[in-house]
Amino acid sequence: MVQTNPSAPTDFIREIIEEHFKNNRFQGRVATRFPPEPNGYLHIGHAKSVCLNFGIAAQYKGTCNLRMDDTDPSGETLEYVDSIIRDVKWLGFDWEDRLFYASDYYERLYEYAVQLIKMGKAYVCDLSPDEIRDYRGTLTQPGKESPYRNRSAEENLNLFERMRAGEFEEGSRVVRAKIDMSSPNVVMRDPVIFRIKKEPHYRTGSQWVVYPMYDFAHCLSDSIEGITHSICTLEFENNRPLYDWFLGELKVYHPQQIEFARLNVSYTVLSKRRLIELVEKGEVTGWDDPRMPTVSGLRRRGYTPEAIRDFCARIGVAKNDSIVDVALLENCVREDLNERAPRVMGVLRPLRVVIDNYPEGQVEELDCPYHPQNAGMGFRKVPFSRILYIERDDFMENPPKKFYRLAPGREIRLRYGYFIKCVNAVKDPKTSEIIEVHCTYDPETRSGFAPDGRKVDATIHWVSAAHSLPAEVRVYDRLFRVANPMEGGSDYTKHLNPNSLEILKSCLVEPSLKNAVAGSRFQFERIGYFCVDPVDSSDKALVFNRTVTLRDSKAKITTKGS
Ligand code: ATP
Ligand code: MG
Repeated sequence: MVQTNPSAPTDFIREIIEEHFKNNRFQGRVATRFPPEPNGYLHIGHAKSVCLNFGIAAQYKGTCNLRMDDTDPSGETLEYVDSIIRDVKWLGFDWEDRLFYASDYYERLYEYAVQLIKMGKAYVCDLSPDEIRDYRGTLTQPGKESPYRNRSAEENLNLFERMRAGEFEEGSRVVRAKIDMSSPNVVMRDPVIFRIKKEPHYRTGSQWVVYPMYDFAHCLSDSIEGITHSICTLEFENNRPLYDWFLGELKVYHPQQIEFARLNVSYTVLSKRRLIELVEKGEVTGWDDPRMPTVSGLRRRGYTPEAIRDFCARIGVAKNDSIVDVALLENCVREDLNERAPRVMGVLRPLRVVIDNYPEGQVEELDCPYHPQNAGMGFRKVPFSRILYIERDDFMENPPKKFYRLAPGREIRLRYGYFIKCVNAVKDPKTSEIIEVHCTYDPETRSGFAPDGRKVDATIHWVSAAHSLPAEVRVYDRLFRVANPMEGGSDYTKHLNPNSLEILKSCLVEPSLKNAVAGSRFQFERIGYFCVDPVDSSDKALVFNRTVTLRDSKAKITTKGS
């Protein structure tokens, strides 16, 4: 029996697996699979399933296969396959040599259908798709048997062969399992198992014109691969009897299907169909738009695989659907980046500061640690000079009582630098906008403390005007304005947040960021976590994405002592 780690997470799925260890259902073996259909990019819901399947395999020293569930030529592409492979790898999981394709099983699946026909358990049905629907009945009314249900096995075999040969049009005939048209479970009312589709498939080209349906292909793919626990989302609960029926009738190796609640996250949508729409309608710039809940979007936004895995571990698995607060996801990346992101200084909305008594032309290189709690991350030099930029909202001409930052007559500390005291502010004569602030500095305070012991209320970040680098910063907000965009009808796009992206073009960052690597992540002190945009950033024009703010925006932000 497999030894389990007592500190490992436990849930109803792991309980079922451990029950199987006790009754020796699979001889102590655990083999799971992650079976995406390559008709879209993976999203955070898929990540939950990836973490669950690969996590269970690792915990019980089993295996997890990556299987492209590619049984529908429409919408499946190699681009999607490649993106899925990249994303699962990036999430940190390894399927070794077990990358499989349901499309590799077409011949075997065809043979299984032939076998059912020979057993009198399947038949070719000539009803139209509409008629099939009408004959199916409803939840309260039993279905009606198809007039083609009692064809002989010979006739069925002949027709199925000719279906495969391309003799018939799409929709003119299907193969159906012969189960029970009056079953209380609608799924069991002679479900379709093969249909005609004359579209080329991204892998098999025009080799096939009959394609197996999901319910038929999935259980048999699991069986072919020797999967023990076939974990899927709750909407397949009603399909489990069908999963078991196919495997039972065909007398083949029989995995256990287990359903869990799919992940929903607030302020976003997680259905591939909706995500495709957002991409196609241009509501976002692509699958990897940093506002998208896709793995590629989160990666571009600056999320780490560790943060996503942590999120998936924290939400756990349950049997009832719920919506997880997106703030929990944000908090996972915030906590992870707090540990690992080097601190740097960047000013998003610059205000010019002139230090009147600082010698013109003088430059000091200040030693600044990359992490306040982790000296191992080292130091960098940050140039300090007479003209600096600070954040526009770190200055107020007529501050209210609770404003602790720079204001006329007030002294503050520059991060890693001197105390400066504001003398006056210069305004644009036309607009009255403050364009420059004049200060004096105290040369005795370079240590960050005044020898006479006087204190300041705030420490603010800054960059040196002559040394800073221009940068574009993309500030993201939630994609939707409401927690559940799907509530109250399907026109979810009306809930899109028009302010989900703010582009700040005149930001300034410290010179150490000159050669920042694409995708690398930083904390801009006092502002948030940012990552070098892997697509649009270059040596000539730095572009940063805001991954997440320093604190939950709902939590109250105070500036005193910050
Ligand atoms: P969608 O509903 O977004 O189109 P899907 O279920 O059709 O998704 P698949 O490619 O078939 O997408 O999904 C692959 C695996 O990921 C399946 O096992 C499915 O159960 C799981 N999965 C998909 N969406 C979620 C989700 N929101 N939460 C948890 N698991 C999910
Ligand atoms: Mg699916």
